[in-house]
Amino acid sequence: MLDVLIYSHDLAMTEYGAAHPFKPARAKFFVELLNRFHLIFEDNQKIVEPVPISEELLYLFHAREYIEVLKKASAGEFSMEMLWAEIGTGDNPIFKGMFEFVLDVAGATYQGAQMLLGDEVRMAFNPVGGLHHAGRDHASGFCYVNDIAIAIADLRQKGKRVAYLDIDAHHGNGVQDAFYDSDKVLTISLHESGEGFYPGTGFEKEIGDDEGRGYNVNIPFRAGTDDEVYLFAFEAVVPPLMERFKPDILVAQIGGDGHKDDPLADLNLTSNSYKRVIQTMKQFSPKVLALGGGGYNVFKTASLWTIAWATLCGIEPVDQYVGRVGGMMFGPETEAGHLDDAPFVLEGAEKEACFEQARRVVAYLQKTVFPIHGL
Ligand SMILES: [Zn+2]
Repeated sequence: MLDVLIYSHDLAMTEYGAAHPFKPARAKFFVELLNRFHLIFEDNQKIVEPVPISEELLYLFHAREYIEVLKKASAGEFSMEMLWAEIGTGDNPIFKGMFEFVLDVAGATYQGAQMLLGDEVRMAFNPVGGLHHAGRDHASGFCYVNDIAIAIADLRQKGKRVAYLDIDAHHGNGVQDAFYDSDKVLTISLHESGEGFYPGTGFEKEIGDDEGRGYNVNIPFRAGTDDEVYLFAFEAVVPPLMERFKPDILVAQIGGDGHKDDPLADLNLTSNSYKRVIQTMKQFSPKVLALGGGGYNVFKTASLWTIAWATLCGIEPVDQYVGRVGGMMFGPETEAGHLDDAPFVLEGAEKEACFEQARRVVAYLQKTVFPIHGL
């Protein structure tokens, strides 16, 4: 079975603006690490170029009026609607080639989903995908088009059972909203609590409406949360629900901004919990669509994605350059150190507070959501 990387150098070279924290170039550093650690040379691995999504498919999730506004803005045309759609703000700037960029990103994710429908591909990875904040009729949090909601809506139309797992430091609000009243998509987001933190949603009580009740799960963590607390809640909640739901396809947004060195979020996670979560998610479904998501420490995020790729492919990183240059590190990871982090353990009252919140959330979900799934 094939493992596919969907990658274009041109796409990775897109800039939101020099000072903007969202850097598509992370994908380029990621591919450099795949080369360096000998992770992209197996017979069952393939790199494919993204093809832009056809505009019609955007309407699987987005409002037509919104897409029109987005197109106009990208062409340099100002309209009042732009302001309602939150385009042209500091977070969601207008940049050259914006509309083409979003068509390519959504196209790459859609392509990955289509490949997983067949018998040949078991994993597809789009590092520039995972734009989980885009709403039906507005941009938000660096996201203009919700590639995830579009791909899942399409898989649903084709009769697939889809689970969505979001480990980005921010709540996956756009995807939550897209499937909030459906029991055909199980949506689980683990993130830093929305109390005073963007996007301000994702509390444990948001469990879905109508038929979707119990099929939307949020695990909000207190700022400061470390690997131990994170894994406690992840293991208590996610595997039992996934084992019950049995997705045909798992769509995973694997943002790297939960890392303790991320400049925009306040969690204290390391590559150790990240790797464990990826290892576990691999068992939830025979097919995985992995999407890069956030991560604002550019090199650390590229390292985390490298760990995710290796884990999903079931191969070990081998540093090809060790010993060749006197053991010196060079390349993008000079800034990031090694792929794996040393363990980090929070202690004292702060740790207890993080644990207390995690225990409360887990108990709430076990009481309200588990029975809906016969657990
Ligand atoms: Zn994020």
